Amino acid sequence: MADCIFCNIISGDIPSCKVYEDQEVLAFLDISQTTPGHTLVIPKEHVRNVLEMSESTASSLFKRIPKIARAIQKSTNAPAMNIINNNESIAGQTVFHAHIHLVPRYSGNDGINITYTTNEPNFEVLGKMAEQIAQEVNL
Ligand code: 5GP
Ligand code: ZN
Repeated sequence: MADCIFCNIISGDIPSCKVYEDQEVLAFLDISQTTPGHTLVIPKEHVRNVLEMSESTASSLFKRIPKIARAIQKSTNAPAMNIINNNESIAGQTVFHAHIHLVPRYSGNDGINITYTTNEPNFEVLGKMAEQIAQEVNL
């Protein structure tokens, strides 16, 4: 896609610091470096995000994550890592070519705060929600 930043990185029209490349996947350092070693892993196929991704693209993308994550960990000595994926603007997606963030973590108080609200569970509501999703998955 001509006006896509990440397609232009894949083609080499925009320079990047590559850390891994094969036929289907490219990994390069995020320009923002949330922490040192912050890497993006992308499919070479232009797809908007995981919500629009085929199983075969997901398979080639996600199967590379552990290998790249371990290489980042070895190179940086980071004891921990967040693996994050944003889908659509409300969820924080700003570049609309699917990507997975690998963010090495060096300390628990580095200013990055990823938390999920905890609510008192309502098992009736949970059960209905699970049923709906389960039906959709099998369609
Ligand atoms: P999102 O917010 O969509 O999940 O993440 C997009 C990421 O792409 C951001 O972390 C941003 O720093 C990174 N990014 C945007 N433009 C470029 C670029 O031209 N080169 C590189 N290496 N990263 C970029
Ligand atoms: Zn693209």
